[in-house]
Amino acid sequence: MGLKQTLVSMFGKPVWEDRAHTLVVGTGAGGATAARVLAAQGVDVLMLEEGPKLVTADRPRDVPAALASTMREGGTQASGDLSPLVVLQGKCVGGSTAINSGIIWRMPEDVREDWIRNHGLASLVDATEFERIYDVIEEDLEVEETREDLLGGNGALMAKASKALGLPGKPMTRNAGRCEANGECLQGCPNENRQSMDVSYVPRAIADGARLRTLARVDRVWIENGRAVGVLGMALDPETREPVGRFQVRAENVVVAAGVVHTPIILRRSGLRGQVGERFQAHPGAAMLGRFDEPVRMAYGATQGYEVPMRSRGFKVESLSLPPEMLAARLPGVGAEWQERMKHLDHYAQWCAQVRMEAHGRIRPGLLGPSISFAPTDRDMAKMKDAFVTIGRMLFAAGAREVYPGIDGYPEVLRTEDELEHAARLPLGRNQVHLVASHLFGTAVAGADPSRSVVDPQLQSHQVSGLYVMDASVFPTNMGVNPQHAIMAVVYRAAEQLAASRGRRRAA
Ligand SMILES: Cc1cc2nc3c(=O)[nH]c(=O)nc-3n(C[C@H](O)[C@H](O)[C@H](O)COP(=O)(O)OP(=O)(O)OC[C@H]3O[C@@H](n4cnc5c(N)ncnc54)[C@H](O)[C@@H]3O)c2cc1C
Repeated sequence: MGLKQTLVSMFGKPVWEDRAHTLVVGTGAGGATAARVLAAQGVDVLMLEEGPKLVTADRPRDVPAALASTMREGGTQASGDLSPLVVLQGKCVGGSTAINSGIIWRMPEDVREDWIRNHGLASLVDATEFERIYDVIEEDLEVEETREDLLGGNGALMAKASKALGLPGKPMTRNAGRCEANGECLQGCPNENRQSMDVSYVPRAIADGARLRTLARVDRVWIENGRAVGVLGMALDPETREPVGRFQVRAENVVVAAGVVHTPIILRRSGLRGQVGERFQAHPGAAMLGRFDEPVRMAYGATQGYEVPMRSRGFKVESLSLPPEMLAARLPGVGAEWQERMKHLDHYAQWCAQVRMEAHGRIRPGLLGPSISFAPTDRDMAKMKDAFVTIGRMLFAAGAREVYPGIDGYPEVLRTEDELEHAARLPLGRNQVHLVASHLFGTAVAGADPSRSVVDPQLQSHQVSGLYVMDASVFPTNMGVNPQHAIMAVVYRAAEQLAASRGRRRAA
């Protein structure tokens, strides 16, 4: 875009204006839930989403195009640290739920109790209310335990390993009651059997009267006299995704649900400070491959179907199937050695660990996009190593004849348990492993104490009345389990409270 066009788009007349009672920015787990609850209560809701609306039948099946069309920066968003952390997020209607595996976990009780005791959130996470809300969401989203015949070779081998080693493994519970084991969660479930927000709560909110505007990037909250009165943003071109002009919307309430990276950016651009962008937490992870004599057939079965939760040790092991083009890129070796491994592309299992890290990072607006920093502690890396060694032992227990750790400074190929135990004695530093995080928390945390939090227990900003945050940013801690269900429950509760207060604002 030329300079003149840029200036016109930034400072010219708005290309569109609108008005609503309640604006919801973002349509992921948090935003879609807020819109669904508010619309069902008769509130006039407008959803604004930076990404496009997805048409399931048209979603690309090849991985590069799938990543480019649905993920932020095509899946390459990363922290600016010397050893970058890849931070995966969806950028489309449905947010990260449109590309996730639909794994469902209720918030662990120790997390709920910690939030009550240390963050003053008793009303937000009330046990009786949570039970009711979980039941509603689980029915709405067809939540069921993965059947054995859907596990596929990748999940079934993990079940075998778990049994052999006496680990607490189990089939995953997912929001995909009608799963057909296509292994295409990332590209979008072909028959919409996985109930991501784009095929469940967003259409449901629209059926109840909510409106949706896509390719609408909110830049800041419009604040007058300490009250939120709307938002300002840029309309984006459907092809290039470049800004084509300003838009503005006025509203009684603004709910920001742009996810853990972009919610604090919007709030900071709007002038909010204090804890905004602080306490960024995650469950970073990495994966290991095992080669088996018999075909594993990773392409058949649930993308993720089996898990071994090890919360007391700070991590969780999950089966994670990859499309063949991504799997091929992970095979070690060069030349004839690599070609020999490629010939057996059907013989690999991949299992990953999600680690509940104690590190707190930070997010700030940067010149070219969000500036993300996150540095795992030594204790975090010790947990990561424990997870790697556990996965290695599991792969051998399931009968792997080769294990590929994918860790710099470790052998590329481990052929025996002795080799694994030898590798387990090597140190594991942050720069040796390629960490990826898809479970993100914090940056606009909830709490009763305004000096330690951004929003109050009703998820309304401590600083600006009528401004709410309803996404994973409000989590004061991470959890050690997959977050979508807990995010939805927290938002469901807060949105019900907002609907009940209909328009009543705290004095500015
Ligand atoms: C690959 C992957 C797999 C995952 N698998 C699972 C799983 O199986 N189970 C599980 O529990 N969790 C899983 N997660 C995590 C889970 O999906 C997220 O924790 C959850 O969706 C976060 O909800 P959210 O509302 O905070 O943000 P998101 O769902 O990311 O939604 C944020 C939305 O805001 C929009 N937005 C951002 N900025 C703006 C702006 N300026 N203007 C307008 N709109 C904006 C984004 O485009 C996006 O649609 C996975 C995540 C990923 C990336």
